[in-house]
Amino acid sequence: MNQIIRCITCDEIFTKTPYDQWPEYEYVSVNRPEPSRTIEKDDFQDFLKHHRNHPMEDLKVLEDSFVSEKPYFEPTKASYFKATNGKEMFVIKKFRKRIDEPLSYQLIRGDYSLKLLRLEIQAEEIVKQLKKELNPSPLPEPQLEAFLKLYRQVLKTIDINSLERVPEDSPHPLEIYYKMDDVSLAYLLRNCRTIFKGQEYQAVEAFIQRHREDGVLLLKAVYQIQISESSKSKKGALPIPHAIEGKKYVEKT
Ligand SMILES: [Zn+2]
Repeated sequence: MNQIIRCITCDEIFTKTPYDQWPEYEYVSVNRPEPSRTIEKDDFQDFLKHHRNHPMEDLKVLEDSFVSEKPYFEPTKASYFKATNGKEMFVIKKFRKRIDEPLSYQLIRGDYSLKLLRLEIQAEEIVKQLKKELNPSPLPEPQLEAFLKLYRQVLKTIDINSLERVPEDSPHPLEIYYKMDDVSLAYLLRNCRTIFKGQEYQAVEAFIQRHREDGVLLLKAVYQIQISESSKSKKGALPIPHAIEGKKYVEKT
């Protein structure tokens, strides 16, 4: 069990267990075996000494709230997860400025959300794949362009909320892939008939069917982590009855 202890007075946290068991470490361990860092008991004692007589409380980590701004294998990325004391929400930023530094944890009052930056087609990949698969009778350049233009037009009519997300993990945590819906597929195929004829159309239709579920025709959504910090002013906050809510950790001697 991961345990996060918050000093209510200072808004500082101590994480009693390293997050070695979190999924991203499985990725890390493939190429970059990280020596499992054990937090010395002294660290906790130091924390207690530093916050002597301050009220403390445990924070509960919200399951599945883990997001990261860079690919999983990136060692210096910042990641975020949500935690709560039952009344307030917190975002915990986990980061490391340099690879040889230990992880730092920063407590932020508030919440985060994922903001959609853009939904796009994978134009480069589509062209590359079309050229590769439609060999030895490749599409002429103007037709490739016409196909991309058409697919971008289809994209404009798509509401991302109606799309099905592809379950496979993307290597980049903020890039998510979606399948085109059936209505859009029908629209795309219908309009392909005006661009391609005969055998060419057959080949393009087969290509579309091959790639719409898990190939280059997947739509790529790019998100951004948006942190909404709530006011740090204690005036508005309810006073916490320390004797009841606060938890006291006693330094060992
Ligand atoms: Zn403190």
